[in-house]
Amino acid sequence: MKISVAKEIEVCERRVALIPDTVARLVKQGCEVCVESGAGERSFFSDRLYEEAGATIVTDTDKLWGEADILLKVSPPGERDGKPEIDSLKEGSILISFLNPLGNPQLAQQLAERKVSAISMEMIPRTTRAQSMDALSSQASLAGYKSVLIAAAALPKYFPMLTTAAGTIAPAKVFIMGAGVAGLQAIATARRLGSVVEAFDIRPAVKEEVQSLGAKFLEVKLDEETATAGGYAKEISEESKRRTQEAVAQRVANADVVITTAQVPGRKAPLLVTEEMVAQMKPGTVIVDLAAEQGGNCACTEPGKDIVKDGVTIIGPINLPSSMPVHASQLYAKNLTSLMKLLVKDNALELNFDDDIVDAACVTHGGEIRSERVKQALETLAVK
Ligand code: NAD
Repeated sequence: MKISVAKEIEVCERRVALIPDTVARLVKQGCEVCVESGAGERSFFSDRLYEEAGATIVTDTDKLWGEADILLKVSPPGERDGKPEIDSLKEGSILISFLNPLGNPQLAQQLAERKVSAISMEMIPRTTRAQSMDALSSQASLAGYKSVLIAAAALPKYFPMLTTAAGTIAPAKVFIMGAGVAGLQAIATARRLGSVVEAFDIRPAVKEEVQSLGAKFLEVKLDEETATAGGYAKEISEESKRRTQEAVAQRVANADVVITTAQVPGRKAPLLVTEEMVAQMKPGTVIVDLAAEQGGNCACTEPGKDIVKDGVTIIGPINLPSSMPVHASQLYAKNLTSLMKLLVKDNALELNFDDDIVDAACVTHGGEIRSERVKQALETLAVK
């Protein structure tokens, strides 16, 4: 059975799906691993390191894709030399990657038409058993960490409290919105840098986690259920949005740094920081909007850009995990190898749809789209 690692073609994607260490482990288990030449270059893993780990380096891209039983990628496949990358995949092969199937259900349809079994890393359930395969978490954690470093670099102040011969410096006040995986890592990082941290989330269940990291939790009483049974946030009513905006406005006005990480799966990111709030902020304040790619939590965010408005710097980073490609790839590779343990038995492919993880993550199989949510996303698109 052949496992192949494709080189990422997106300019801003520096990660690679497997690192040499994980290749060595797969080879030891009897798998044949092929790596596209240069696939690890931008995350500092050379072809030589992959070869030493037991991989075969392949320079012919069509051959790599066409002969793979399992093709591994990070970013969703795109077009190479004007031709869709997935056109090279053989019937019955498995593609494992981030695929954005709810945002781009057409790709799922094309994969179904090619009779490829597509496993979407976004669709891995957030359960305890699936934790080692949860790439959304491993990558969100990197983003949360890096967001604080970006804010600290842009802030015209110190983060920690300092008592010096030249006077005392007050610690920076950091306000973090959304206390999921990225938000909690941002809280921990901002605390390590010595700032005073307060956080807000519409899911009251996160209060204890926030407090255990040494931050204050801003409580806003909402008269509705704010989380799904799966633990994700729900889209809230207009009245709840008004109440939360009212409550956060004062925190935002007093903060030195605001980091926003709020997301509602399958929806545009909620608007938390309005233009009026930005106008009320102190000049020199820094906002880092981790939801930039999903429309932004701040009304002024421009994805991929740093802008200054009324003296406030608003940073909308894109694909932050890719800016730390060594550890991002290491963690992603571990997520993939844990997942492949469910798909490969005695060196042969076996898709067991009785397994809840395989069932949830495998969005296409046997020429069909399997996921109801992806089918719905496709129907919604057709209606538009
Ligand atoms: P996410 O990226 O979907 O959202 C980030 C945060 O934004 C969430 O905490 C959400 O509640 C919050 N949010 C949404 N709308 C908001 C609003 N209007 N105002 C303020 N905050 C808002 O979340 P995630 O980091 O992917 O985590 C989603 C859930 O999955 C969480 O409950 C998390 O604890 C859980 N999880 C469980 C496991 C596991 O058990 N294995 C692993 C990872 C995550």
